[in-house]
Amino acid sequence: MSMKIALIAHDRKKEEMVNFVTAYEPVFKHHQLYATGTTGTRIMDSTNLKVHRFMSGPLGGDQQIGAMVATNEMDLIIFLRDPLMAQPHEPDIIALLRLCDVQGIPVATNIATSEILVKALDRGDFAWRELVHKYKPGETE
Ligand code: PGA
Repeated sequence: MSMKIALIAHDRKKEEMVNFVTAYEPVFKHHQLYATGTTGTRIMDSTNLKVHRFMSGPLGGDQQIGAMVATNEMDLIIFLRDPLMAQPHEPDIIALLRLCDVQGIPVATNIATSEILVKALDRGDFAWRELVHKYKPGETE
């Protein structure tokens, strides 16, 4: 089943993200991809994947993805953060990760976890999310 996957990479992690998505393109092509603005452009420039682009992270892209997480619509977040550089939109980043914890959404913030999660996705370990898909967002409470 097709999952909704969000891809976000801070500037010094964008090359790593492009390499990662390129390596797993055969897996990603079966899913619906979303990304913050620049990350999405970089991925589409380097692969044959179609990515729905939100605004750039610092301009609200993280919050747009967060809105989908809040309604339990996003199935997996791959968020390659830069741990060595302060980000102007740090509050948005924390908010997005918090919402992932609120909803229990699988989220990877480094390449090692990203790889484990994408392999799990390919194996079918995300089948439990199909149960979530059956319920319309907002109807649970
Ligand atoms: P970007 O946003 O993909 O538009 O660069 C990511 C970020 O820096 O938060």
